[in-house]
Amino acid sequence: IVEVENVFKSFGSTRVLEDVSFSVSKGSVVAIIGRSGSGKSTALRCIDRLEIVDSGRIRVAEHEVTSSGLDLHQLRRDVGIVFQSYNLFPHLTVEENIMLAPRLVQKTRRSAARESAMQVLTQVGLADKATCYPSQLSGGQQQRVAIARSLAMAPQLMLFDEVTSALDPQLTGEVLRVMEGLATDGMTMILVTHEMAFARKVADEIIFMHQGRVWERGPAEILDAPATAELRDFIGNGL
Ligand code: ATP
Ligand code: MG
Repeated sequence: IVEVENVFKSFGSTRVLEDVSFSVSKGSVVAIIGRSGSGKSTALRCIDRLEIVDSGRIRVAEHEVTSSGLDLHQLRRDVGIVFQSYNLFPHLTVEENIMLAPRLVQKTRRSAARESAMQVLTQVGLADKATCYPSQLSGGQQQRVAIARSLAMAPQLMLFDEVTSALDPQLTGEVLRVMEGLATDGMTMILVTHEMAFARKVADEIIFMHQGRVWERGPAEILDAPATAELRDFIGNGL
């Protein structure tokens, strides 16, 4: 469902992605790991066209992401992205936050939008918080609302960029459980994470990025037997 082919991306004179290629099949989970600055977030952002590649090709489902003819609205409808900061609207309730995009973008009727909001809130275990404001929720709960908000658009692909980095361990666990549930339900996901145990458990494939390149990739077993000194170092030293 995702094809990334020979992507290059620089910011000014800084090469950030160098000949990055990988693919993700429908229903699978890919975890991207690597040191700070290795290009993980940039790779994700290119997939959602939050960054424009210098060269190479990216396809997501039927969308030619790197083509000038891309329908950005359609792409964003089909791809959900969740970041470390959850960016909920503080003046809207949980339910209203979730209903906003379906109402505005998909012109969903209010009753239908509310129904699907309750459905995704149930999915992330927060059905009882529908009428709360974000400030009344813990960080982990807010992050789960952010995930629910993406799910409300019924995406074909979910991108997660270090969604638990700002959370303490207990709240991290809640959010990871939600993501694990999504994986079990067959959602196609690409996640950038420092949670190695989680990556091991849910990822069908691990991509280790180093200096803007896909340095190693394969099943979780590559973490047990790294082929390169760089991956061995990365695992050994944590971040
Ligand atoms: P981290 O683990 O810290 O989030 P990362 O692997 O996600 O790191 P990126 O955010 O993709 O790394 O950044 C890769 C490189 O690109 C870094 O050197 C960063 O400084 C640079 N970079 C990223 N975004 C921009 C930008 N908008 N303008 C200029 N340089 C950028
Ligand atoms: Mg990053």
